[in-house]
Amino acid sequence: MTRVYNFSAGPAVLPEEVLRQASDEMLDYQNSGMSVMEMSHRSKTYDNIIKTAEADLRELANIPDNYKVLFLQGGAHLQFSMVPINLMKNGVADYIVTGQWAKKAYIEAQKYGTINKIASSEDKCFSYIPDCSDLNISKDADYVYICENNTIYGTKFHTLPNTKGKDLVSDMSSCFLSEPFDINKYGLVFAGVQKNVGPAGVQIVIIREDLIREDLPKWCPEMLKYKIHADNSSLYNTPPTYGIYICSLVFKWLKNLGGLNKMKEINEKKAKILYDFLDSSKLFKGTVEKSSRSLMNVPFITGDENLDKKFIEQAKDAGFVQLKGHRTVGGMRASIYNAMPIEGVIKLVEFMDKFEKAN
Ligand SMILES: *Cc1c(COP(=O)(O)O)cnc(C)c1O
Repeated sequence: MTRVYNFSAGPAVLPEEVLRQASDEMLDYQNSGMSVMEMSHRSKTYDNIIKTAEADLRELANIPDNYKVLFLQGGAHLQFSMVPINLMKNGVADYIVTGQWAKKAYIEAQKYGTINKIASSEDKCFSYIPDCSDLNISKDADYVYICENNTIYGTKFHTLPNTKGKDLVSDMSSCFLSEPFDINKYGLVFAGVQKNVGPAGVQIVIIREDLIREDLPKWCPEMLKYKIHADNSSLYNTPPTYGIYICSLVFKWLKNLGGLNKMKEINEKKAKILYDFLDSSKLFKGTVEKSSRSLMNVPFITGDENLDKKFIEQAKDAGFVQLKGHRTVGGMRASIYNAMPIEGVIKLVEFMDKFEKAN
């Protein structure tokens, strides 16, 4: 068996320990005589898995009792709809568009109300995070929306926008649990777990209780109501049971590692190795404004498309895979999520250095 260094943007690398434990427990989960996949979501054993997952996540991210933690389905994309449907009382929301995911959310939300684009970085190909300290926040906005880490472009909000008292909603898909965050600064955060926390198919939503409403439009499907899921502790219907179980193992892994402060320290170390190399390289360069750089997704180019292609091919042969940039931007992108070991980044930089000298 050979494991490669997997720089995929998502679904992405998971901690090897987690995969090993899942493998050990595949046929017989803790003497239940069955796999977690084969287990009723109403069973005592499964109830313990999902409750422990929630408790560990609450502990890791310091989530107080006035926030609900929901395990849902439908990907981050469904949140692009659920957020406006559930959170708009006045029918107005403000969006900050810093990349394709934010733009998609902004466009989707327009189906449900008046959506204002209050800031954007599209003028420079989303290569920076705009100054959001004094934006023109709409008086009756129900919330302000951001995509906190822009997976495709490799930018991150290092300072949250000044929402002037409005609730902040954040798509944290590609930075969730990469470092500590203060949930009290948000009304709602959501994350598709396939970037940093688990397999595709699970969506984590953390929502302040007072934002969970009953008086939703008549046409709203039951499955799209946060209230239904909150009232039923994410067990209204069959949840993605196995995916949540893998997330629970990742939460334990993070706790054993020392929690989110420790994770942040490691992630900063990893990102620094790569960014320092890019800053000193004569061949490779980063594509993002330095002050907006993401710890998780690092896009870079050589400036020559053919050389990019050659690099991606040779890297693959050397065991560094999925380094191709997003189909819409080209170049390369190294996603260095929580589970990417530091040796992976060190070895990638060594390989890049060798490639540079040879070309
Ligand atoms: C990957 C990603 C999405 C899309 O997630 P799906 O689960 O495919 O819907 C949305 N937002 C961000 C920030 C992402 O990284």
